Amino acid sequence: MSIAQSLERLSGINVGQLAASHGTPFYLYDGDRILMQYRRLLQAFSGTDCRIKYALKANNNISILRLLHKAGSGLDAVSIDEVRLGLKAGFEPSAILFTPNSVAFSEIQEAVELGAQVNIDNISLLGQFGHHYGGRVPCCIRINPHIVAGGNTHIQTGHIDSKFGISIHQLRHVVRIVETEGIRVNGLHMHTGSDILDSGVFVQAAELLFDAALQFPELEYLDFGSGFKVAYKDDDITTDVEELGSVITDRFRSFCSEYGRPLQLWFEPGKFLVSEAGFLIVRANALKQTTATVFVGVDSGQNHLIRPMFYDAYHHIVNLSNPNGTPRIYSVVGNICETDTFAVDRKLNEVREGDLLAIFNAGAYGYTMSNNYNARPRPAEILVEDGLPRLVRRRENLDDLLRLMNEA
Ligand SMILES: *Cc1c(COP(=O)(O)O)cnc(C)c1O
Repeated sequence: MSIAQSLERLSGINVGQLAASHGTPFYLYDGDRILMQYRRLLQAFSGTDCRIKYALKANNNISILRLLHKAGSGLDAVSIDEVRLGLKAGFEPSAILFTPNSVAFSEIQEAVELGAQVNIDNISLLGQFGHHYGGRVPCCIRINPHIVAGGNTHIQTGHIDSKFGISIHQLRHVVRIVETEGIRVNGLHMHTGSDILDSGVFVQAAELLFDAALQFPELEYLDFGSGFKVAYKDDDITTDVEELGSVITDRFRSFCSEYGRPLQLWFEPGKFLVSEAGFLIVRANALKQTTATVFVGVDSGQNHLIRPMFYDAYHHIVNLSNPNGTPRIYSVVGNICETDTFAVDRKLNEVREGDLLAIFNAGAYGYTMSNNYNARPRPAEILVEDGLPRLVRRRENLDDLLRLMNEA
């Protein structure tokens, strides 16, 4: 997918009418595109018994969860309430993998009681798990293979000092605990970081997991996490899932013969499924010319979409209201009392006060990372399915903020 394809799909939606009836800002999600991505990934790995566990931290709107549930997806949940959200959306408990970090053992127990699969990411927890459940409840173990897949240092989890997973160098220790406590390990997991740009690097990490897997005779699945990179810019290098599929499929199948049994191949995409399907629609409130810059101040900010400020992420922006306007250079900023800059020196068709702008790639880590800073309510969310737009979360208001305060 590319920015041009995103724009083309967006142009099929009457955004002006949605803004008139629901107000701005709002998140707009293209449900059909989410399903296209889901099917594309499954297709790429169709030579294996591939299962997709959508990482709902990317976007946990229950309507999107239901959409993916209907398509056959499972979930990867990182908190106990993400597990509960998944159950509310209709997922079978066993279709949910719980992959937390830095949790107390009690949260693991809650997940077991709910029937979710648990993924253990530290040695102390593994010991407690074995002591408590022995072999009665299976678990998955999260391995850190220490392969850095490149890209943005903010979002790598596989490097040597990462807090995530159990180091592959501690495997002997892990095996000792598993054998002593009689733990039934039914899955091994790795999630190296955010960007698979090179299937060779990915296969290197996979080989480490295959090696480790030979030490666990009761496996049912290998979970390769995520790392699927999508386009934020037109010239971005993205993960070629079809190529990855053909490389991994053959190697996975040969590994299964070596292992002696067919295993399921799991992935946990977040961004890949939802990023490009989402747009944050904002209105230009103010134009301000300073000596060096023309600022467009919009009716949203870092409280709604923090990725540009938090990760220095590039998000493409289009002026929907003036598609034929003369291109000019702007800095697009939010309305929060912080330097909440969405874009610097960005070429946009001439922006006038009142124009609607679309911020691209807002489907992942947009609403789920939003907050109420400056007592500004979170935006609405609209999902388009089969061409029909539907409000799937109303805009917050002051009463929503006051509801939790005792003096209210
Ligand atoms: C965040 C996360 C994912 C999804 O990552 P994306 O970059 O959004 O695809 C998958 N697995 C785990 C364990 C995660 O924490």
